[in-house]
Amino acid sequence: MSNITVSGIDSAELKRVLEAGVDHGGNSIEPFADKDGGMPMRCCLADSRAGDNVAIIAWSPFSWHGPYKEVGPIYVHTDPCPSADALDELPEDFDSRAMVLRPYGFNKMIAYHRVRHVPAGESLTAHAKELLAMDDVDFLHGRNVTGGCFSFAASSKTKSSKTK
Ligand SMILES: [Zn+2]
Repeated sequence: MSNITVSGIDSAELKRVLEAGVDHGGNSIEPFADKDGGMPMRCCLADSRAGDNVAIIAWSPFSWHGPYKEVGPIYVHTDPCPSADALDELPEDFDSRAMVLRPYGFNKMIAYHRVRHVPAGESLTAHAKELLAMDDVDFLHGRNVTGGCFSFAASSKTKSSKTK
């Protein structure tokens, strides 16, 4: 049993946004067929398959407000897919890509001194567990190394805060 929870984006909120047709940045959502597949989907934390209906949307993966509440681009399926609201660990494919783990403190700010660059091939789940065991870390984001795009969130099951 894992003591952390890993998640993509909130599936209920995605459903609401897709139904509204407007993303978190105020843009109209324009779905398209993914010709080649292999794009990183944030709804199910899997790569797209050729022919999937997808969209690039502006998204804010935060449940609170403040200056650190960023909005950025992510890929999502526009048809229903298996949600990734609460996994015990990351799918293994994630370890093949380098990733920045960006922890946030309980003060709703980035815990800059805890930010960690994880090289490809190392266990992101193990690194996330280490960071989430620290007293000054509330939750963390996995972020694309080059673009900084949101990849996943992780939080501790045993800490009191449920923000992400
Ligand atoms: Zn999906």
